[in-house]
Amino acid sequence: MKQKAVILFSGGLDSALAAKLTEDIFDLSGVVFSTPFSRVKQEAFALAEKLSLKLRHIVFGEEYFELILNPKFGTGKGINPCLDCHIMMLKKAKEYADETGAEFIITGEVLSQRMMSQKSGDLLKAEKESALEGKIIRPLSGALLPPTEAEIRGLIKRKELLSVSGKSRKTQLALAAKYALSGFGTPAGGCVLTDKIFSKRIKDAVEHGELDLLRSRHLMTGRHFRLAKGSKLVVARKDSENTLLADNAGWLIRIIPSGAPGPEALLSDMRDIDQALSIMARYSKKTREFIIRSADGAEVVRKAEAADEESVRKYLV
Ligand code: SF4
Repeated sequence: MKQKAVILFSGGLDSALAAKLTEDIFDLSGVVFSTPFSRVKQEAFALAEKLSLKLRHIVFGEEYFELILNPKFGTGKGINPCLDCHIMMLKKAKEYADETGAEFIITGEVLSQRMMSQKSGDLLKAEKESALEGKIIRPLSGALLPPTEAEIRGLIKRKELLSVSGKSRKTQLALAAKYALSGFGTPAGGCVLTDKIFSKRIKDAVEHGELDLLRSRHLMTGRHFRLAKGSKLVVARKDSENTLLADNAGWLIRIIPSGAPGPEALLSDMRDIDQALSIMARYSKKTREFIIRSADGAEVVRKAEAADEESVRKYLV
């Protein structure tokens, strides 16, 4: 009978290859993660299905913000706490492994592929911090790393491990062709924490005590303004953003063009309502009249004069 193992599956090429390289050796099940800043794409589930991989979707909530506020191992170029984030994922994978009777964790990590979390020292640090020393199998780079417990016990042989390292994807793409793999996601899965503009918005949210699940959903949407008295305004740029803001308004104040299509907005509080309306008027082509709708459904309609470009730009986050 094959030993059980849990694979960290992102839907990217490396984790798909890690699954292919070990599927005949271990009885695999997968875990995939969403954070407040990275959602699992549908393609990841489709790829897991193609690989006959049972997948548990784990969603990190408020606890994830602690990594942003106090990253033990620092951040990358943006606000990405990659090593802390990876350790958190390993800990969750371990919980799932304990639950399912799996002894080993498999990852698609490639040595030195990402400076922030995949240097050999970082790989070992992550093992230690997640209490998984000797238990993490990295089939793509395993031949370059110290033997794992699985190797020592003869469950997997060194010749079954590859020696891929660095950023080049040449070997992985050749393997993808060999295994006829398609439908995998882009490297890093588009984690917005690595994005500089996004990082600026998060820093601003942290400074104003606004890092929460509701407002984290708006951070990649629209134009963001920190207004004169401290309110936060998010103005949509297109219809799909209007929908996203409307669906995730929560306790925030909605500002909606009255009787005409146009950008909608969310405002944190009424301190800066006049300025918020003047910014709305700047972006609204069809009307200067707006409905201000509070979370309890109460509405007032107000007119506004458009702010000039310079005074709008000054408040952009
Ligand atoms: S890129 Fe984003 S999701 Fe990936 S480890 Fe870094 S912080 Fe976590």
